[in-house]
Amino acid sequence: MNIKKIWRDPVWSKVIAGVLLMVITAIVSVIRSSYSETESFMDVLNTVLGVKINLWLALAVVLIVWIVVSIVKQKKNKKNSIPQVPFVNGFTEGDYQRMKWKWRWKWNKSLNIYDLTDLNLVCPLCNEGVLTIGYMNYRCGKCGVEINYRELNVNHDAVKTQILEDAKRNYSSYEDFIGEVN
Ligand SMILES: [Zn+2]
Repeated sequence: MNIKKIWRDPVWSKVIAGVLLMVITAIVSVIRSSYSETESFMDVLNTVLGVKINLWLALAVVLIVWIVVSIVKQKKNKKNSIPQVPFVNGFTEGDYQRMKWKWRWKWNKSLNIYDLTDLNLVCPLCNEGVLTIGYMNYRCGKCGVEINYRELNVNHDAVKTQILEDAKRNYSSYEDFIGEVN
Protein backbone atom coordinates (compact mmCIF):
# COMPACT_ATOMS: atom_id res chain seq x y z
CA MET A 1 0.00 0.00 0.00
CA ASN A 2 1.31 3.45 -0.81
CA ILE A 3 0.73 6.53 1.36
CA LYS A 4 -1.78 8.16 -1.02
CA LYS A 5 -3.93 5.03 -1.11
CA ILE A 6 -3.85 4.72 2.68
CA TRP A 7 -4.84 8.38 3.07
CA ARG A 8 -7.79 8.03 0.64
CA ASP A 9 -9.04 5.00 2.58
CA PRO A 10 -11.82 6.13 4.98
CA VAL A 11 -10.72 3.81 7.81
CA TRP A 12 -7.01 4.56 7.54
CA SER A 13 -7.42 8.32 7.30
CA LYS A 14 -9.28 8.18 10.65
CA VAL A 15 -6.62 6.01 12.25
CA ILE A 16 -3.86 8.32 11.00
CA ALA A 17 -5.82 11.39 12.14
CA GLY A 18 -6.19 9.81 15.59
CA VAL A 19 -2.48 9.03 15.85
CA LEU A 20 -1.60 12.56 14.66
CA LEU A 21 -3.92 14.03 17.30
CA MET A 22 -2.16 11.96 19.97
CA VAL A 23 1.27 13.08 18.78
CA ILE A 24 0.23 16.75 18.64
CA THR A 25 -1.33 16.47 22.10
CA ALA A 26 1.87 14.92 23.45
CA ILE A 27 4.02 17.69 21.93
CA VAL A 28 1.73 20.40 23.29
CA SER A 29 1.78 18.84 26.74
CA VAL A 30 5.55 18.54 26.73
CA ILE A 31 5.82 22.26 25.94
CA ARG A 32 3.21 23.11 28.56
CA SER A 33 4.68 20.89 31.27
CA SER A 34 8.06 22.55 30.86
CA TYR A 35 6.39 25.81 31.91
CA SER A 36 4.22 24.43 34.67
CA GLU A 37 5.59 22.34 37.50
CA THR A 38 2.18 21.33 38.82
CA GLU A 39 0.90 19.70 35.61
CA SER A 40 2.70 16.57 34.50
CA PHE A 41 2.87 15.22 30.93
CA MET A 42 0.21 12.54 31.54
CA ASP A 43 -2.10 14.94 33.40
CA VAL A 44 -2.26 17.24 30.39
CA LEU A 45 -2.75 14.33 28.03
CA ASN A 46 -5.59 12.98 30.16
CA THR A 47 -7.24 16.39 30.41
CA VAL A 48 -7.15 16.94 26.65
CA LEU A 49 -8.47 13.53 25.63
CA GLY A 50 -10.66 13.02 28.70
CA VAL A 51 -9.50 9.42 29.08
CA LYS A 52 -6.46 7.60 30.36
CA ILE A 53 -4.43 6.37 27.44
CA ASN A 54 -2.46 3.19 27.59
CA LEU A 55 0.10 3.40 24.81
CA TRP A 56 0.26 -0.36 24.38
CA LEU A 57 -3.50 -0.58 24.11
CA ALA A 58 -3.51 2.16 21.47
CA LEU A 59 -0.80 0.36 19.49
CA ALA A 60 -2.66 -2.95 19.78
CA VAL A 61 -5.86 -1.34 18.44
CA VAL A 62 -3.97 0.18 15.51
CA LEU A 63 -2.40 -3.21 14.76
CA ILE A 64 -5.75 -5.04 14.92
CA VAL A 65 -7.43 -2.46 12.66
CA TRP A 66 -4.51 -2.79 10.21
CA ILE A 67 -4.89 -6.60 10.09
CA VAL A 68 -8.69 -6.50 9.69
CA VAL A 69 -8.50 -3.87 6.92
CA SER A 70 -5.82 -5.91 5.10
CA ILE A 71 -7.87 -9.13 5.23
CA VAL A 72 -11.07 -7.40 4.05
CA LYS A 73 -9.20 -5.71 1.17
CA GLN A 74 -7.52 -8.95 0.13
CA LYS A 75 -10.89 -10.73 -0.04
CA LYS A 76 -12.42 -7.82 -1.97
CA ASN A 77 -9.57 -7.83 -4.48
CA LYS A 78 -9.88 -11.58 -4.98
CA LYS A 79 -13.58 -11.20 -5.78
CA ASN A 80 -13.05 -8.38 -8.28
CA SER A 81 -10.07 -9.78 -10.12
CA ILE A 82 -10.44 -11.81 -13.32
CA PRO A 83 -9.10 -15.36 -12.89
CA GLN A 84 -6.14 -16.20 -15.11
CA VAL A 85 -6.96 -19.42 -16.95
CA PRO A 86 -4.83 -21.18 -19.59
CA PHE A 87 -7.58 -21.79 -22.16
CA VAL A 88 -8.06 -18.04 -22.78
CA ASN A 89 -4.82 -18.03 -24.78
CA GLY A 90 -4.27 -21.76 -25.29
CA PHE A 91 -7.56 -22.80 -26.86
CA THR A 92 -8.74 -20.21 -29.42
CA GLU A 93 -8.74 -22.20 -32.64
CA GLY A 94 -9.47 -25.71 -33.85
CA ASP A 95 -10.85 -27.96 -36.57
CA TYR A 96 -14.57 -28.69 -36.48
CA GLN A 97 -16.86 -30.06 -39.22
CA ARG A 98 -13.92 -30.26 -41.66
CA MET A 99 -13.21 -26.53 -41.29
CA LYS A 100 -10.84 -24.37 -39.26
CA TRP A 101 -12.44 -22.05 -36.67
CA LYS A 102 -11.26 -19.15 -34.50
CA TRP A 103 -12.86 -17.74 -31.35
CA ARG A 104 -12.24 -15.69 -28.19
CA TRP A 105 -13.00 -16.11 -24.49
CA LYS A 106 -14.58 -13.05 -22.94
CA TRP A 107 -14.90 -12.60 -19.17
CA ASN A 108 -18.50 -12.32 -17.99
CA LYS A 109 -18.41 -10.30 -14.77
CA SER A 110 -21.93 -11.07 -13.54
CA LEU A 111 -21.76 -14.83 -14.12
CA ASN A 112 -18.06 -15.26 -13.21
CA ILE A 113 -17.36 -17.30 -16.33
CA TYR A 114 -15.58 -16.93 -19.66
CA ASP A 115 -18.05 -16.74 -22.54
CA LEU A 116 -17.20 -18.23 -25.91
CA THR A 117 -17.48 -15.36 -28.37
CA ASP A 118 -16.53 -14.24 -31.90
CA LEU A 119 -16.71 -17.78 -33.27
CA ASN A 120 -15.72 -17.55 -36.93
CA LEU A 121 -14.76 -19.82 -39.80
CA VAL A 122 -11.22 -19.36 -41.05
CA CYS A 123 -11.00 -18.88 -44.82
CA PRO A 124 -9.95 -22.20 -46.47
CA LEU A 125 -8.31 -20.31 -49.33
CA CYS A 126 -5.98 -17.83 -47.64
CA ASN A 127 -6.03 -19.57 -44.24
CA GLU A 128 -5.83 -16.15 -42.54
CA GLY A 129 -9.05 -14.16 -42.91
CA VAL A 130 -12.37 -15.00 -41.30
CA LEU A 131 -15.59 -15.71 -43.19
CA THR A 132 -18.57 -13.45 -42.66
CA ILE A 133 -22.07 -14.61 -43.53
CA GLY A 134 -23.70 -12.55 -46.29
CA TYR A 135 -26.99 -13.05 -48.13
CA MET A 136 -26.20 -16.38 -49.80
CA ASN A 137 -22.47 -16.62 -49.34
CA TYR A 138 -19.64 -16.49 -46.89
CA ARG A 139 -17.07 -13.85 -47.72
CA CYS A 140 -13.47 -13.72 -46.55
CA GLY A 141 -12.47 -10.43 -44.89
CA LYS A 142 -8.88 -10.87 -46.04
CA CYS A 143 -8.75 -12.29 -49.58
CA GLY A 144 -12.38 -11.54 -50.45
CA VAL A 145 -13.27 -14.98 -51.77
CA GLU A 146 -16.98 -15.84 -51.77
CA ILE A 147 -18.14 -19.32 -50.85
CA ASN A 148 -21.73 -20.51 -51.11
CA TYR A 149 -22.78 -21.45 -47.61
CA ARG A 150 -24.38 -24.71 -48.79
CA GLU A 151 -20.94 -25.74 -49.96
CA LEU A 152 -19.52 -25.56 -46.44
CA ASN A 153 -22.58 -26.98 -44.68
CA VAL A 154 -21.51 -26.12 -41.12
CA ASN A 155 -23.56 -25.41 -38.02
CA HIS A 156 -22.26 -22.66 -35.71
CA ASP A 157 -24.31 -23.72 -32.67
CA ALA A 158 -23.15 -27.33 -32.90
CA VAL A 159 -19.52 -26.19 -33.20
CA LYS A 160 -19.93 -23.83 -30.22
CA THR A 161 -21.34 -26.63 -28.07
CA GLN A 162 -18.51 -28.92 -29.14
CA ILE A 163 -15.82 -26.32 -28.33
CA LEU A 164 -17.29 -25.81 -24.85
CA GLU A 165 -17.32 -29.57 -24.33
CA ASP A 166 -13.69 -29.89 -25.47
CA ALA A 167 -12.63 -26.96 -23.27
CA LYS A 168 -14.25 -28.55 -20.21
CA ARG A 169 -12.60 -31.89 -20.95
CA ASN A 170 -9.11 -30.53 -21.73
CA TYR A 171 -9.12 -27.91 -18.95
CA SER A 172 -11.17 -29.82 -16.38
CA SER A 173 -9.65 -28.00 -13.39
CA TYR A 174 -11.00 -24.72 -14.80
CA GLU A 175 -14.40 -26.14 -15.72
CA ASP A 176 -16.27 -23.67 -13.49
CA PHE A 177 -14.91 -20.77 -15.55
CA ILE A 178 -16.03 -22.10 -18.92
CA GLY A 179 -19.19 -20.51 -20.31
CA GLU A 180 -22.45 -22.14 -21.30
CA VAL A 181 -24.14 -21.72 -24.65
CA ASN A 182 -26.70 -18.92 -24.38
ZN1 LIG B 1 -9.43 -15.67 -47.45
